[in-house]
Amino acid sequence: MSSLPAMTSSLATRLRVLILGGTAEANRLAQVVAKDPRIYAVLSYAGRTENPAKPPIAWRVGGFGGIDGLKHYLMAENIARVVDATHPFAAQMSSHAIAACAAANVPLLALERPPWQAVAGDRWIEVDDIGAAAAALGAAPRRVFLGIGRQHLAAFAPHPQHAYLVRLVDPPRAPLPLRDAEMVVARGPFDRAGERAMLTKFCADMIVAKNAGGNQVSAKIDVARELALPVIMIRRPFVPARQKVETVDEVLHWLGHDAAPAERGV
Ligand code: NAP
Repeated sequence: MSSLPAMTSSLATRLRVLILGGTAEANRLAQVVAKDPRIYAVLSYAGRTENPAKPPIAWRVGGFGGIDGLKHYLMAENIARVVDATHPFAAQMSSHAIAACAAANVPLLALERPPWQAVAGDRWIEVDDIGAAAAALGAAPRRVFLGIGRQHLAAFAPHPQHAYLVRLVDPPRAPLPLRDAEMVVARGPFDRAGERAMLTKFCADMIVAKNAGGNQVSAKIDVARELALPVIMIRRPFVPARQKVETVDEVLHWLGHDAAPAERGV
């Protein structure tokens, strides 16, 4: 029997998947499903960075218009599964996905990397949000590394006694809202040598980080440990309970399409 009819029929019945992206894990998932003719997947970006990685699958940029907007998108696009592979701090998007998938009766799975855990020698001060992180810097002047994203810099403006080193993915379109700030424009992943060089050149004596987890931006946490620098670690925001996994392989299993090892690049 020729393989052509089977291929044609599988293309006609491709599983339509929406991947909510913005993470390296979402990009990895896109790479794998792109090679699987049984899956048609769309990767959705929030549009927080100006030049997101171009995936080898269909992609879109920008909000859906709240829970109702996402529900209508799922129905209009005939989406059969949603994979929430957003950043762990994108709690609104994740909550909307839970509600919209329930309303549209579409199965949802979250791909969520585990948070970083403090180990012996770490000097973490854990706080619940950005405002608490800014307050935790204290009254005495500090030299602070901020690797938290441009959306949150204004929270540090009421604390002008500190000198800040700010790392951003894109050059800012407006002046930074901080009186004393240096800026680095760079996109991860970052390695230890580079992080050590950057932090020692600036003479940083404190780091503010979101507990993103994963290894894209974890080198700064390793270097803080090596240099015995305190880290103000912002805990992850609350997201309602949902089914979740930690690896791309588990997502593929859930989709019912275990990729061969070669396709996963292992
Ligand atoms: P959010 O507060 O969860 O989302 C706000 C709105 O942005 C959502 O309601 C949705 O708009 C839209 N949105 C978010 N992710 C989307 C996606 N993948 N596709 C389409 N629309 C999306 O998230 P955020 O404002 O982007 O960021 C919150 C925190 O996460 C910040 O601390 C940020 O630094 C961090 N973060 C986010 C990303 C990212 O890619 N989003 C990446 C790195 C870090 P509608 O309601 O209109 O659908």
